[in-house]
Order: sequence, then C-alpha cells, then structure tokens
Amino acid sequence: MKRSFFGFIKPKLTYEPITDTQAEPVYIQAPQKIRFLLDTPVDRSGDLKLSVGDQVKNGQRIQVTADAKDYALASKVGKITDISPFIGMMQAKMTAVTVAVDAEANKAVDDEFKEQSQTPSLEVAQRFLHALPGKPDFSPFFDSDKQIKAIVVLGVDRDLLSITNQFFVKTGIESIKTGIDILRKITGIHNVVLAVPESLVQVAGASEAGVKTVDSEYPAAHPQLIVRHVLADEIKAGDADGNADVAFFSAEAVSAMGAAFNTGQLPMNKLITLISKNGNKRLVCATIGTPLRDILNRFNETVQDGDRVIFGGPMTGVSVYTLDHPVQPDTDTIMIQDRTQIPERLDVACINCGECVRICPVNIPVNVLVRLLEAEHYEEAEANAELGACIECGLCEFVCESRIPIFQHIKLAKHSLEVMKAEESNA
Ligand code: SF4
Ligand code: SF4
Repeated sequence: MKRSFFGFIKPKLTYEPITDTQAEPVYIQAPQKIRFLLDTPVDRSGDLKLSVGDQVKNGQRIQVTADAKDYALASKVGKITDISPFIGMMQAKMTAVTVAVDAEANKAVDDEFKEQSQTPSLEVAQRFLHALPGKPDFSPFFDSDKQIKAIVVLGVDRDLLSITNQFFVKTGIESIKTGIDILRKITGIHNVVLAVPESLVQVAGASEAGVKTVDSEYPAAHPQLIVRHVLADEIKAGDADGNADVAFFSAEAVSAMGAAFNTGQLPMNKLITLISKNGNKRLVCATIGTPLRDILNRFNETVQDGDRVIFGGPMTGVSVYTLDHPVQPDTDTIMIQDRTQIPERLDVACINCGECVRICPVNIPVNVLVRLLEAEHYEEAEANAELGACIECGLCEFVCESRIPIFQHIKLAKHSLEVMKAEESNA
C-alpha cells in the first residue's frame, strides 16, 4: 500500500488483474465429510424435514423444514450423520448438516432437477439453482416492487486479491455465453451487460453481451458503483440507490446456470482464490461443503492460535472460528493471515482527522456516523448520517487513524436495525 505524505490525497488500492501465466486450479480430493450451513435454525420448528441417517443424492435439495426458504444442494452422495445448531455472523442461529460421503455410490443423481431442466423458467431456477457455485440470486425477479430492466454479469471480483470471476471470463467465455442465453430466455430481459477489467475486454466480446470496462481502483467493482459510474447511460436506475432495476450475477454463477440447464446436472465445484500466509495465491477447486481443514491439509498450511482464516477478501471478508467451516456457494476467496500480520486494534476515540470522509466512495459523513454507532444510536444513524447508503467497502476502517473498527460497527448497526424492524413487524 502506498500512502501519500499529503493527507488530502487518497491512498490507492487496486484490484488484482489475472495474468496470462495464471496456473490452472488445483482440485481438492473429494472429502470424506461435507457440511452445509442453512439459515433456518434447527430448533425453530418441530416440523423437521431432515433426520440423521437420511440418504442424500447428488443435487438433492436439503432443507431444514418444508417451509424454509433457504436450501443447500447435496454435492455428494452420502448419509446425514449430524444436524446441529450453528452460530453464524452476528450470532445468527443457523443449522449445520453433516453428510458422510459414500464414495462408492458417487454417481447417484437426484432426478427432480433433471426433469424440470427440460423447461427452463425462473421458478425452476429459483427452486434449484440458488445454491450453485456463485450463489445466483433470483429474488429481484420475484419482488413486486422492482422492475428489472437489465442484468449485469460481474466478470470482476468484488474484493482485492481475488481472481475467481476473472478466471471464468478468461477461460470459459463460451459457458458464460450459454448462461447469458438462458438468462435472457427465462427472464425475457435482453439488456445484459458483462462488466470486466480492461485486460479482459477482448475475450469478453465473445459473450454477445454489452461489454463494459470497470476501473482497476477499489471499490469500482462494487455492483452499486458499477451501475452508478459505468452503466449510468445504458440503465436508467429506478431509485436513489441506483440499483433497484438491475439484477446482478457473478460470471461463475452464470457459467454454472448454463451448464445446469444444458446438461440437467447441477455443477457443485466451487472455484476459490486461496491466499496463504506468505502471500502466495493459487486457484483451488473444491466441492461445495468441503471443510476448510481439507483445503489447508492439501497445501500443508497450518493455523496456530491467534492466526486468522478469512472467508471473503481482505477488505470485506469475515474470519471463521472453526476449521470445519465449509466451502459455501459464495466463497470466492479464503485468506490465511499470520497473527504477526494482523494490525493491532486500538479502538481509541475518533480524532476527527477526516480521512474516512475523504475516502468514502459514496460521500457519507463517516466521522459523524461513527460517533452515533459507537453510542448504539442506530436509528439516528440511519435517519441523519446515511447509514443506509453505505456500500460496505471497508475503506473508512482501512484509513482510520484511530484504528476504530468502523466496518464492524456498520455491519452490526445494519444487522441490529434489521432485527428491530423484523420484531416491530412481527409485533
Ligand atoms: S464502508 Fe465506510 S467508506 Fe465504505 S461506503 Fe461505508 S462508510 Fe463509506
Ligand atoms: S473515524 Fe477514524 S478516520 Fe474518521 S475522522 Fe475519526 S479518527 Fe479519522
């Protein structure tokens, strides 16, 4: 990181461009156990749809209860050996389902999707494809408050150091084109844009989508900033946030969708950028549900007390607390950080230096915001300090002279407001 001697010049963080010499991904051997995390808490209802001892087949939907909206897709054949409560981010009550893999019966495929893939539709996609690699989100198309006018395929990576989506554009543009054709067919939306870094513009042309270049300076690849700065002329966004009329899909998700509808089989291998303690970076391909431990063992990576393993990139990722944490459909990056590399958190009072305000890409008065958040005045932060406009890029925390964990305060505040609103609405 290069920081200027002059406080009024912003530091520059740039995305990692994929190189022509990028090695092929390393495939992780099929694990003996796979694990799925589901948002529905296991103790929420007595109406459980799963039991220990149940057999699952490749591609079978795994739901905690029949009415649960979230689901996982079994990525291997096997038997459920454990169903336990799991504490996620912000103490979210979740469920972890563990499956002992039956390597002998590896080819058994659940037929439900195969039958329905003959007639591609948004409903079929919503029911079966949400847990594919890249975690495609079809919910905007079912939201009556939104009029989706365009689809943006992200051939860029949202956080620093990751090259996962760029790899798909570089090596698999044909499968992305297939996925875009399917998306056009099931949504009826023909305005599809593929957003890529400068180095991939030429190869992206083969997708037959509109190709747009995204700046290399972080956080230009954030979806809301892409709409605001790159697509402003093409897409007339419908609200002040600038993203209400656009649906986003990662290049990996689009590629997986195309393969799913073309073959009737659900691809379950996730591509991950793995960053070792020494900074070495490699692409890894692992079955969704593979425990972190299996990936670390493959590369002889050790994790000691005080080290961190971060799922997501260095700016926006979250550290996980168990080596059993599984690869999830949206795990683009795993980063291992030695305890000696972890910056000390001071958490002293704000000195009003203004660095956070100068760097914020959406012009939030962060110095005011942080005071309200530290005092847990979340509603006031939302009403008077533009908490809702924050795109969660993490830059303010990165430059904070007092090393205040601003990003964590923001995440906690947004989560607390969501919980408060849900409780009010239930009441
Ligand atoms: S994380 Fe900080 S810098 Fe980024 S948008 Fe939010 S307030 Fe601004
Ligand atoms: S929150 Fe941090 S960066 Fe922002 S004004 Fe205060 S000390 Fe400076």
